Amino acid sequence: MSKRILIVEDEKNLARFVSLELQHEGYDVVTADNGREGLEMALEKDFDLILLDLMLPEMDGFEVTRRLQQEKDTYIMMMIARDSIMDIVAGLDRGADDYIIKPFAIEELLARLRAVLRRVDFENDNGTTKQTTVTYRDLTIEKENRVVRRGDEIIELTKREYELLLTLME
Ligand code: CA
Repeated sequence: MSKRILIVEDEKNLARFVSLELQHEGYDVVTADNGREGLEMALEKDFDLILLDLMLPEMDGFEVTRRLQQEKDTYIMMMIARDSIMDIVAGLDRGADDYIIKPFAIEELLARLRAVLRRVDFENDNGTTKQTTVTYRDLTIEKENRVVRRGDEIIELTKREYELLLTLME
């Protein structure tokens, strides 16, 4: 069955371009051009993934994420402008599952979607949570338990420090 993707993006040309590319790849795509409409659609129907712009009219991506996640656990990939690392941290802090930096090459988006949707499938099949480990030199992050290690030693971090470190390591 086709994966259902909701695109919430107010830049009409971008939304249209991404939508056509995703449809070409066989996804079932719906678009909304403001945050309020996007939230309503996301609440009403079940999507495998939401591609959510951050800066949106009526309701921004943070608020859409917050409200949606009170109701359901849809996978959210936020689209965030280059140079806004604090927005990335805030987005992840507020419940987005992943992000992609704008402007992005469509091939990168497609590759990321394939990876994510495979993972979502795997989790649904296995009933497991997102089990992944990220490593960089002697640092290791177990994303599932949010544990950070340097070598064998566990490092205590605030939530914000953790998200920033994870973002940089990824
Ligand atoms: Ca926008």
